[in-house]
Amino acid sequence: MSKFLNNKLFRYLAVFLFLNSAILPVKSSSALAAWALKTNGVLELRTKSNTNLKAYFQKANQIYGDRFWVDFPGELKNPRTIKGNGPIKEIRLGKPSKGKTRLVVEFKEETYLAPLTWRMVGLDQNRWRIKLFKPKYSFTKIGEGFVEKRIKNVKKGQSSKYMRKKVHNYLQLPNVKQNKFSVVIDPGHGGPDPGAIGIGGIRETDVVLEVSKIVKKLLSEKGVKARLTRKNEVNLDLPPRVSFANNTNADIFVSIHANASRGKRRDINGLETFYFRGWRGRLLAKKIQKQILRVSPGSPDRGVKQGRFYVIKNTKMPAVLVEIGFLTGRLDARRLEKAAHRKRVAYAIAKGILEYLSKVG
Ligand SMILES: [Zn+2]
Repeated sequence: MSKFLNNKLFRYLAVFLFLNSAILPVKSSSALAAWALKTNGVLELRTKSNTNLKAYFQKANQIYGDRFWVDFPGELKNPRTIKGNGPIKEIRLGKPSKGKTRLVVEFKEETYLAPLTWRMVGLDQNRWRIKLFKPKYSFTKIGEGFVEKRIKNVKKGQSSKYMRKKVHNYLQLPNVKQNKFSVVIDPGHGGPDPGAIGIGGIRETDVVLEVSKIVKKLLSEKGVKARLTRKNEVNLDLPPRVSFANNTNADIFVSIHANASRGKRRDINGLETFYFRGWRGRLLAKKIQKQILRVSPGSPDRGVKQGRFYVIKNTKMPAVLVEIGFLTGRLDARRLEKAAHRKRVAYAIAKGILEYLSKVG
């Protein structure tokens, strides 16, 4: 985006965020002419020239999923609902009040969205675009009317190849040398020690075991020998976790935990990754922290830190302890109770590990 900043042609409109309430926008001056939500997750709008439009996002509630909407001046003739596909539940065109038009994009449950990064960009006097989701979802274009000016000499093959490449890169985990590396994944706590207990009774031991198992699976698929210190709810002290890693000559050790705040404060959320010593441990921590933040939009970055935890202090190899969120925090707990988010976190940890291995070896 930054390359556009100096260009006066581009106007930006931040998406207003309302978590639980919606406020009607102020008046604007022109109407929606055409729209298209494309396979790459970009919503394009064509309006009359110099339209002042307003965009909003509202988190899901009991009735609706996550919703993004844009209000335009000018009353809509035929309110209608268009069935969605992929991450989109439906698209509605309605009149929220007299003389207004509203385009609503409603997402399906458990769609990963990052509304804090959304920006609506004015391409010219009557065209707008905003990227709503990444092309990791399979999605068939939906739209009405022509949003784009016809441009000659655009080779269709080129643009589709570019798109395929992007999708591919996004989905793929980095490659490393097959059967070369050994990783020990340590799901924190277990058995009589459930670790942190969060909102609604969510237990750290359950969350981290599930995430760890997925990390192991993802690494195995990449030809990395991954072992878990525990595979079920057993009581496992810290020394055997360390000796297991040391005795198997693992290349790296990753202990997975979830946090709890003192006094169970619901406003405390965030992710952090600890290492004890060495640039390798620090690099591994940085790689993992970066990836887990990407799948946890809005959750604070508590950083990569040095920590004196037993398991990372006493293991011989580069070792980190990752805290994937606060089970006592409203934002983090709501996510971590969902299987889809646990998968994303596991994917992120695996990606961080593979990036590290492909770089450091
Ligand atoms: Zn823990």
